This record gives sequence, C-alpha cells and structure tokens, in this order.
Amino acid sequence: MEVFLGSGLDEFKKLLLSYHTIVFVGCSRHPGKPAHDIPEEMKKYGYNVVCVNPAARRRILGSLTFSDIKDVPRRYLEIVDVFRPSREVPAIVDRMLRFNILPKVFWMQEGIKNEYARKKLEPLGVKVVEDRCILKTYLALLSERDEVYANILRFARTYARAKGFALNPDPEKLDEIILALAYNQKRYGYRYCPCRTISGDFEEDKKKICPCVWHEEEIKRDGHCRCGLFWDPRAVRAPGGITEGPSSLAGRL
Ligand code: SF4
Repeated sequence: MEVFLGSGLDEFKKLLLSYHTIVFVGCSRHPGKPAHDIPEEMKKYGYNVVCVNPAARRRILGSLTFSDIKDVPRRYLEIVDVFRPSREVPAIVDRMLRFNILPKVFWMQEGIKNEYARKKLEPLGVKVVEDRCILKTYLALLSERDEVYANILRFARTYARAKGFALNPDPEKLDEIILALAYNQKRYGYRYCPCRTISGDFEEDKKKICPCVWHEEEIKRDGHCRCGLFWDPRAVRAPGGITEGPSSLAGRL
C-alpha cells in the first residue's frame, strides 16, 4: 500500500506550511549577510518575501520593501521574521502594537530572544517563536521529504500567488497533497492529480496534471479544488478554519 501521510511535522514546520508570506524586518541588501541570504533562500522556495529596512531606498531582493513596519499592508501579515538584535525587539513590538500590526507569527531568528515580545503578543493571539532560524527549520522539513516535494511546493506557492488563490490552510493536509503529487510525479513523470484515477490514456489524463482543467470551476463553486490544494482565500480564515460554507461563497462570486 502506498502511504502519502506526512510525519515529523513539529509545530515550527507546521507554521511554515500554514503561511506563505514572510515579512523580514531588518532585511539587508548586502549578499553574504544572513539578513540577505536567508530571505533570498526562502524566496527561492516560493515564499512571498516582503522586506522592512529603514535605510532602504529601493527594493531589496526584488521584493516589496518598506522603510517602516507600519506601512506593510495587512494582507502580508502572516509571518514577521526579525533580524535585529534582541535589545531592539521591544521597540519593534511597540511600533507594531501602536499601528495594530498583528501577524499570525512573530519569529525571532537564531540568537534573538525577547520576553517582552512574548508577554505583549501572545495574549493577542500571535504565535511567538524565539532563537530559531527560519531557513534551518524549513530545510529540516525538506530533509524529511525530497527535491521533488520541494519543487512541487514551490510551484504550488507560486501558482497560488499568481492566481490569487490560497493553499490548503491545514498544514498536515497540505503536506499530504504535496507528498501525493510528488509520488505521482516520480511514478508517472507528470504531476497527476492525487484525487483522480490515472487511466493510461494520456489525452484524457493530461487534463489531470496539476493544475487540472477543472480547478478554477471547482474553486468558484466549492471554495477549493477537488483535492483541496488550492482555495478561494475568502474561504480561509486560519489553519483548519473556514469562514463560510461553499454555497454562501458561490452566491458572491
Ligand atoms: S484538483 Fe487541485 S490538486 Fe488536484 S490536480 Fe486539480 S488543481 Fe491540482
């Protein structure tokens, strides 16, 4: 029996499968610095990277760049990853609170810790991560998978962003779908849909290569494609959460 179920997803890896936009505070334009190279790597893995740097006069890494965290549009507030010394964290937190900047996750890189951030943000529902490298955490997840998995996840992130879709908000379900697509890629040579039978007739089966010919219609009608990889963002509230049933959504589309 083929097994697609993911395993080894600790809480940190789940965060990196739940959210796909990272706002890097202290992002550097100088190659060779961790504050440049780590955001660059995360961007290569398909994450939507946004930079904050008070001295920035132009885009860093070709990404949206702001000189002040208060200017980052709310829709990008998934993970805020801090590349500043621990002593500067309280001022960043206060600035965020002053302008009601509340991400899903406030992540402090390796070597950065701050009790104040935890005390202020956790009661507001923000998940706080301290002293942990976001890239190492992602590489640890990929080391339990393989390159095909990494490429398909990158494709899924990039395609979803280009089309204005969200990815499945349940990290374990997303992991399972990507594993299944990677399995099909390795077995058949194509990214065949995990939830549709492969007939062997290529003319018929090529409709089932992800993204299949039906996905847009399904997202419009049901709020997500049949496998659940791509979602209408209006149907997603938080990992595992749905704001509205598909029928009420369909009426507004
Ligand atoms: S149903 Fe979703 S996951 Fe399956 S092939 Fe279509 S778009 Fe891809």
